[in-house]
Amino acid sequence: MTDDHDAPSVDITPKRWLCCHCGGTGVDSHGQTCQHCEGLGFC
Ligand SMILES: [Zn+2]
Ligand SMILES: [Zn+2]
Repeated sequence: MTDDHDAPSVDITPKRWLCCHCGGTGVDSHGQTCQHCEGLGFC
């Protein structure tokens, strides 16, 4: 839980599409934060 979002603006691609992995819930089938959208629900 020590890894935070302190990465610089490397990827500035606007994420406004429902994630194709979690379907926009931000959580995968295991109840974990979706690695595809980082819990945003969009990718
Ligand atoms: Zn996705
Ligand atoms: Zn996702």
